[in-house]
Amino acid sequence: MDFLGWRFFPLLSVLASFLLFYMKTSSKPSNSECSFLPYDRFWITSNNIVTPHGVISGAVEVKGGNIVSVVKRENQQWKLKSANVVDYGDAVVMPGLVDVHAHLDEPGRAEWEGFSSGTKAAAAGGITTLIDMPLNSCPSTVSEETLKLKVRMLDSASGFWGGLVPDNAFNKSALEGLLKAGVLGLKSFMCPSGINDFPMTNASHIKEGLQVLAKFKRPLLVHAEIQLDSESDLEENDGVDDARSYSTYLKTRPPSWEEAAVRELLEVTKDTRTGGPSEGSHVHIVHLSDTRASLDMIKGAKSSGDSITVETCPHYLAFSSEQIQDGDTRFKCSPPIRDSANRERLWDALVDGHIDMLSSDHSPTEPELKLLDEGDFLRAWGGISSLQYVLPVTWSYGRKYGITLNQLASWWSEQPSKLAGQDLKGAIANGNHADIVVWEPDTEFDLDDNHTAYHKHPSISAYMGKRLSGKVLATFVRGNLVYKEGKHAPAACGVPILAK
Ligand SMILES: [Zn+2]
Repeated sequence: MDFLGWRFFPLLSVLASFLLFYMKTSSKPSNSECSFLPYDRFWITSNNIVTPHGVISGAVEVKGGNIVSVVKRENQQWKLKSANVVDYGDAVVMPGLVDVHAHLDEPGRAEWEGFSSGTKAAAAGGITTLIDMPLNSCPSTVSEETLKLKVRMLDSASGFWGGLVPDNAFNKSALEGLLKAGVLGLKSFMCPSGINDFPMTNASHIKEGLQVLAKFKRPLLVHAEIQLDSESDLEENDGVDDARSYSTYLKTRPPSWEEAAVRELLEVTKDTRTGGPSEGSHVHIVHLSDTRASLDMIKGAKSSGDSITVETCPHYLAFSSEQIQDGDTRFKCSPPIRDSANRERLWDALVDGHIDMLSSDHSPTEPELKLLDEGDFLRAWGGISSLQYVLPVTWSYGRKYGITLNQLASWWSEQPSKLAGQDLKGAIANGNHADIVVWEPDTEFDLDDNHTAYHKHPSISAYMGKRLSGKVLATFVRGNLVYKEGKHAPAACGVPILAK
């Protein structure tokens, strides 16, 4: 696939980093409020800088929000300006994470999350770019007007995916309006989304959508599950299965749902091949859980030349169905977390490059809707709350598989940046945006009540109670030191990331 041709409005691109923490700030923050560092030009030094060419000891020179040089330790030139050197010793300096799948739920459901809390959590977790999903806010982002609602209420923040829904799929001018207004691509569901104003699409809608996306060279993200009622084991035992039992929930969303959706979807992704009617578009399968038939078919499509990528999420890599206690609806998400053998195959697929990238799928709600008291898996809101924790979670659970810092950077920064068309992000390299996370891989911490979480409702996170390793020390967004040892800069500067 080739994303290099994607075009972005240069000025917005230059301004495009974000992180607004105080949405009601009426006056524009001065630059000194946006960063703990007073310098426009400075050097970040460390013995562990993750570059596309490996981990080096040296310095990253930042000027005007961009990386202007990356030099190895033996080249001592940064010492000439020693006052402007921030030395992180042995801590890891890595490209900031680009989370292409987060639900921040504004406007309309700010009580679930919100841009202010969500972007603060992102910064504390080393995420420097966040792409907001078009649903769970109210209204959903399915038109130019609804996108403007999001853009207008922020001075900040993230990029946005728009929604491909039956209403706009056959309405070329509406879809083009949404894309011209700046969404980075579209998202659709092949099963009910759980949100009334975000109905599901079928293969014909997707085929039409891809033709429009091809013109803009932007991707379609697809939730690939199809409801197969007849195959649900639950029906046979109707009334017998316990809604508090995780195995009951598992039966309601078997791997065959993912398999059926992927099979149908891949009929359409053929259009994305070179010379095909939707050449230039791209299909990205979100949160893959099934590692059997679904994954095999995706591998086949890739080798046939379909422009297709796939992500999975930390919760599928960290947890397995055997460990989920009855009634613990914090773990409910769709597709579901499957058994430990499946989890092992997910790691294999990720390490082998068959799964291209990771995303949080941070999908919070109000604690009441998680029904934690009743523990009813069938009626509880499905979605895992994780935004601030994805880096330490991936690292903590991945260490036993021998994952490397460069793999982390590929899964969390480089590949997601390509998907979102952000060519100047995702790597510590000359000319790129200075979006950087500094963290200590060996520092452990407990996710308990003493740990400061910035996203709303930390109690509903499936990770609460876990011990993790990998502490974020500092986060730079466009050269602004926006987060440092538990504190956020007083304000954040930037504008939404809009495609052009
Ligand atoms: Zn999602």
